Amino acid sequence: MAVSANNKWVYLYSEGNAGMVNLLGGKGANLAEMAQLNIPVPPGFTITTETNTAYFDSGGKLPDEAVEQVRAAMKYIEQEMGRGFGDPHNPLLVSVRSGARKSMPGMMETVLNVGLCTATIPGMVKQSGDERFVYDAYRRLITMYSDVVMEKAAGIEPENESMAIRPQLEALMDAMKEKNGCKLDTELTAANLKILCEQYKAKIKEVLGKEFPDEAWEQLWGGIRAVFQSWRGRRAIAYRKVEGIPEEWGTAVNVQVMVFGNMGEDSATGVAFTRDPATGDPNFYGEWLVNAQGEDVVAGIRTPNALNNYCKQKGQNDKLPSLEESSPDLYKQLVSIRDTLERHYRDMQDLEFTVEHGRLWMLQTRVGKRNGMAAIRMAMDMLQEGLIDEKTALMRVKPVQLDELLHPMLDPVAEKVATILAKGLAAGPGGAVGKIVLNSERAHEQAEAGEKVILVRTETSPEDVDGMHAAEGILTARGGMTSHAALVARGWGKCCIVGCGDIDIDYQTRTVKVKKKVLKEGDWISLNGTKGIVYEGQISVVDADPEENAWYRKLMEVADRVRRLGVRTNADRPSDTATAVRFGAEGIGLCRTEHMFFEGERIVSMRKMILAEDEAGRKKALEELLPLQRQDFIDIFEELKGRPATIRFLDPPLHEFVPHDDVGQQEMANAMGISALRIKEKVESLHEFNPMLGHRGCRLGITYPEITAMQARAVIEAAYAVKGAKAEIMIPLVGHIKELENQKRVVLEVFETVKKERKGQIPPHIKIGTMIEVPRAAVTADEIAAEAEFFSFGTNDLTQMGCGFSRDDAGKFLNEYVRLDIYSRDPFQTLDATGVGELVRIAVEKGKKARQDLKLGICGEHGGDPESIHFFHQVGLDYVSCSPFRVPIARLAAAQAAISTS
Ligand code: PEP
Ligand code: MG
Repeated sequence: MAVSANNKWVYLYSEGNAGMVNLLGGKGANLAEMAQLNIPVPPGFTITTETNTAYFDSGGKLPDEAVEQVRAAMKYIEQEMGRGFGDPHNPLLVSVRSGARKSMPGMMETVLNVGLCTATIPGMVKQSGDERFVYDAYRRLITMYSDVVMEKAAGIEPENESMAIRPQLEALMDAMKEKNGCKLDTELTAANLKILCEQYKAKIKEVLGKEFPDEAWEQLWGGIRAVFQSWRGRRAIAYRKVEGIPEEWGTAVNVQVMVFGNMGEDSATGVAFTRDPATGDPNFYGEWLVNAQGEDVVAGIRTPNALNNYCKQKGQNDKLPSLEESSPDLYKQLVSIRDTLERHYRDMQDLEFTVEHGRLWMLQTRVGKRNGMAAIRMAMDMLQEGLIDEKTALMRVKPVQLDELLHPMLDPVAEKVATILAKGLAAGPGGAVGKIVLNSERAHEQAEAGEKVILVRTETSPEDVDGMHAAEGILTARGGMTSHAALVARGWGKCCIVGCGDIDIDYQTRTVKVKKKVLKEGDWISLNGTKGIVYEGQISVVDADPEENAWYRKLMEVADRVRRLGVRTNADRPSDTATAVRFGAEGIGLCRTEHMFFEGERIVSMRKMILAEDEAGRKKALEELLPLQRQDFIDIFEELKGRPATIRFLDPPLHEFVPHDDVGQQEMANAMGISALRIKEKVESLHEFNPMLGHRGCRLGITYPEITAMQARAVIEAAYAVKGAKAEIMIPLVGHIKELENQKRVVLEVFETVKKERKGQIPPHIKIGTMIEVPRAAVTADEIAAEAEFFSFGTNDLTQMGCGFSRDDAGKFLNEYVRLDIYSRDPFQTLDATGVGELVRIAVEKGKKARQDLKLGICGEHGGDPESIHFFHQVGLDYVSCSPFRVPIARLAAAQAAISTS
């Protein structure tokens, strides 16, 4: 059983601080810190994350000491407020909320107004002087409690969305509004609400088979237990998996005195960010609602007012008064708190506040989620402002956030003529195109099946995280910039539009009505998440140009100064090379020459070579290929302007190049003047049971040295042709030193021949090295280094052969492996550091011992994965090589690796 370090399970805000995040959760630690900064925070306390662990360890029971300490803490806040919890004459109400170490937007379990019951209602009416307010608070308590405690925490899974308790209660509310001719909740009278509360309780009894608890302490304990229980709920598990949050962390519970933003026209509630989370603009940004509770702002049922002029949204809330306009003094106080908090935390904060009868209370501060664009701008601005240093600024941007700047946008030309369906709030930038899917599970399934989908929902909830993650983009009918969809999409840097009021979704008929049009699930739409526009149909997408962004340029400049690892690219074509160089690639780390053989007419020459009856026939076909290869290399060297290019010789099994269908075989028969039957026989003779372990890589060059010779000549002659060209010839799939010796001999013979042919010309700079991608090569790296001037780790094959997972088939079971945490990540995406990484480490050590100036790179997919890049930095490689679009990500990840290891 888990124990608390000092038998302390409960901390008053006055006893905690921001450094105690692991124990108190982010929310609790920050509330304590605000209290220390003399910022007005309603009194409260936090039950620690250790208590959550102890709770699970003992099968769902709170430690006795924790129970006692909660009682003592309640006594303390009762005294502070001069009210009593459950006291019929002068009742105190509290909120119960979860708060994990890391913020999990929308995962927050919340029950407000705990302590309202038959006994305390009259006292509360007396205290507030407002019966309507009290019954409104009561119906909110009943709604949240039945949803969070009685349904979700109890593990009740409704058959479908509409069978859950919350929508059933909301239906009663809608019926009540309709009966009384009301449009807004606020128009319901005290009498209406009183009846509604009774209807709610009856419905709960009917649906969940239990009475709604009518006793303050019973409600409190129920709330606390439900928060703890929620940590192992379905939604939390799904969210944790996406965000990589370990289960052991547990959540804390915050119990806090209620302050009310819905106590009338002099009360309000709001959400704010110390800077604009969508763009990074340093202006104060936020939304608020008069006479409302927090959930009203986030739920997006009423359009929230802007905090100031800066955040007014045209066509949304620009006609509503801002807080600055309607309550300048309050606004000033809030601005001063914002300044204090940002200076104190040195980072953008996400704030929640409530105004009760004109008095401002802060309910939360936490590091605010932001999209990539904003993260970069804020980091660079704060560096400029002297708020943070260079290293902190670099660590502030997640490498994957750069993706957004590099992300495709809708083609502006096609966009101009496309049909606009609707407009909403631009919550996540970039372009997304996909088929409409109205349900998260289906979105997930279809994305898995390779479909591009847009998840379209009235609003999203934490249940939807899987589908949101799988979708290309997200579109919601409701919600503001602080809604669940907006927060989550921003965190992931996903294209997202929220608050698109023109769309009306019918989940039953699986249709979306947009004004007069009706779209069906499966119809294509396109989103411009930067502008908040929804288009009909499929618009083409174009690549972005991050170089236009000054903050990005600055970030990259700082990153390049800090990183030790070089960054190259995997590119086989001049155009990809140009893109990668634009993104900062310092050369090519892998040019897969086989990719050059697939295009256009070349495939015919290639097939002739493979299907040739003898060496003479092969040589003839290779002569056709030579000028084409040479020209490719010339073009690439020209794009590189003196940067090095590692050119890898032919690697895949030959059967991948030959036609397997009758038509293709007949065509080849005609081209070669032999019978189709002969072609068929040849093709069949190339069949292998395990092609990945078969006749491929250097094994091809060893059995057909003329292929290696042709490729060597193409590279060498191209290097002669382009001034300053730096060619590095790389032999694939070497496992034995004699394989490399064999191939190196062929290359050197060609080099000598060409040198003779070009007597008088200065020979180009050519290096010869090998891939380390066969485990045997890794463990005999000292022998191999004697012949290789460089190693490039082929971590794709090294993972395949190291773990024994077929690259082509592992998809079938790897997901399950990851789900079961056998491998915590897909080892083809993030290097398996303990296993495959060990092979890399051995090869580095042995290789360096044998040849001190051995150059070391990596060109498997892991070269673009930030976590793997950390490993490659630590193990002492010279560079990583990745696809062109990941080059900036690798540059930043390399800088972060240098910072975190220094
Ligand atoms: C590798 O195996 O890691 C590699 C880069 O080569 P390929 O993916 O072409 O096999
Ligand atoms: Mg390989």
